[in-house]
Amino acid sequence: MCIICTGEYKTIKNMTVLDCSECETLTKIPVIRGLKKLICLGCTNLVEISVIPGLKELNCTECKSLTEIPNIPGLKDLICHWCTSLTVIPIIPGLEGIDCSACVSLTVIPVIPGLQNLCCYNCTKLKAIPNIPGLQILICHGCKRLTEIPNILGLKKLICNHCKRLTSIPNIPGLQITL
Ligand SMILES: [Zn+2]
Repeated sequence: MCIICTGEYKTIKNMTVLDCSECETLTKIPVIRGLKKLICLGCTNLVEISVIPGLKELNCTECKSLTEIPNIPGLKDLICHWCTSLTVIPIIPGLEGIDCSACVSLTVIPVIPGLQNLCCYNCTKLKAIPNIPGLQILICHGCKRLTEIPNILGLKKLICNHCKRLTSIPNIPGLQITL
C-alpha cells in the first residue's frame, strides 16, 4: 500500500511531489492541495485521478485500468505511456508534452493548443494525427492504422517508421524524418 491508501498523505504538510507507484490497492487519487508532481506508475487498479489544482506533471504510466485522464487546468506534462484502457485525452490548453505511447485503446489525439512534443508510438488504434500548430516533435512509429501525417508547420523532428498504412508525410523544409 502507498501513503494514499494508508491516509498518511494527509499528515504531510506542503507536499509538492508524490510517488505512489506500484500500489495495486489504490483505485482513486484524491485532491491533494499543493501537489505539483504526481507519479503513479503501475497502479493497476487505479480508475480515477481527481482534478488536482496546480498539478504540473502527471506520470501515470502503466495504469492499465485507467480509462480517462482528468482535465487538469495548468498541467504541463502528461506521461500516460502504456495505459492500455485509456480512450480519452482531454483538451488541456497549455499542455506542452504528451507521452501516450502504447495506449492501444486510444483512437483520437485532440488538438491541444500549445503542445510541443507528442510521443504516441505503438498506438495501434490511432487513425489520425491532427494538425497541431506549434508541435515540434512527433514520434509516432508503429501506429499501424495511421494513414497520413498532416503538414504541421514548425515540425522539427518526425519518427514514423513501421506505420504500415501511411501514404502521406509532411513536406517541410528542414524537417528531420525517420521513416
Ligand atoms: Zn496504495
